[in-house]
Amino acid sequence: MRGMIRTYGAVVVAAALLALPAAAADKLPNVVVLATGGTIAGAAASDVQAGYTSGQVGVEQLLAAVPQAKKLATLRGEQISNIGSQDMNDEVWLKLARRVNELVAQPDVDGIVITHGTDTIEETAYFLNLVVKSKKPVVLTAAMRPSTALSADGPLNFFNAVAVAANKDAAGRGVLVVVNDWIHGASSLTKTSTTAVQTFLSPLRGLVGTVAYGECEFYRGGVGRNTVDSEFSLDGVTSLPRVDIVMAYENMDGSMIDAAVAAGAKGLVIAGVGNGNMTKAALDALAAQAKKGIVCVRSSRVATGRVGRNVEVDDDAMALVASDDLNPQKARVLLRLALLKPRSLGDVQRLFREY
Ligand code: ASP
Repeated sequence: MRGMIRTYGAVVVAAALLALPAAAADKLPNVVVLATGGTIAGAAASDVQAGYTSGQVGVEQLLAAVPQAKKLATLRGEQISNIGSQDMNDEVWLKLARRVNELVAQPDVDGIVITHGTDTIEETAYFLNLVVKSKKPVVLTAAMRPSTALSADGPLNFFNAVAVAANKDAAGRGVLVVVNDWIHGASSLTKTSTTAVQTFLSPLRGLVGTVAYGECEFYRGGVGRNTVDSEFSLDGVTSLPRVDIVMAYENMDGSMIDAAVAAGAKGLVIAGVGNGNMTKAALDALAAQAKKGIVCVRSSRVATGRVGRNVEVDDDAMALVASDDLNPQKARVLLRLALLKPRSLGDVQRLFREY
């Protein structure tokens, strides 16, 4: 009788194992979710109203809202902040970057998902792209519609971000941003619509890949030096130098440029017209600040295209730097890291070519 029970037990166990889906039989990847806030964690009083508040839902609620993601990875969450990304700041950046670096150094962590607001996700992603020291997937995601909205986009974006972070093929492509089925590289994506779900584009460099209901397709690697190939490090860094962005426009004078320096800027990025241009008055003010040691970078307010050196502006004579293909908000991130130590202008220009 005992023999029969043992045999019956073994058959039951074997049958149960055969019934397990392949993914569950193999060990699932471990993905840590770091929540920072944003519309993906936003809530409104009704499902069809435009007004809402970012950063209302905690990381545990975010995880609970997408139980399907547990089939892709073993998930655990941490709350880094819970703010609209319009309020993103250096304190959160340094905390987030340190935590990502700690986690990716752990052998039992396979990937990271960061939930974030769409307003400044491109800046945070690019910052992490320069200071995270790992090839493991680090994937930011966001939503345009709050969690309470009709057709909220957050849950599927989150599911897809987990799929990318859990995918070995995502490794070594730099920090990624997954929104609306597209996988963007941190250096190339930009927000292009204030309200549309399809807001993110990677105009010059194209997509890193696509992801549809968790199925990933990768097209290219990272653009520019990033993560393990980046020379930047946050070791010993407790604050970042102030760099301001000044937009160029018709009839511009030098007062905004001078005001930014008076407020303490150590570097300036001009969101120039066209190929990083500005009025002669603005250019004279910029060159005067450059002569005093303020590092001045010409970028463009135009949505796409490179800003080339010495095209319509004599950068050599005026001691200016051209931003290459970084938009003003990303040029500012790179310049802040560049200014962590003294550098020649030639070296700063090299950074804008290489990153
Ligand atoms: N203002 C919001 C934020 O960036 C917008 C969003 O997440 O879509 O947090």
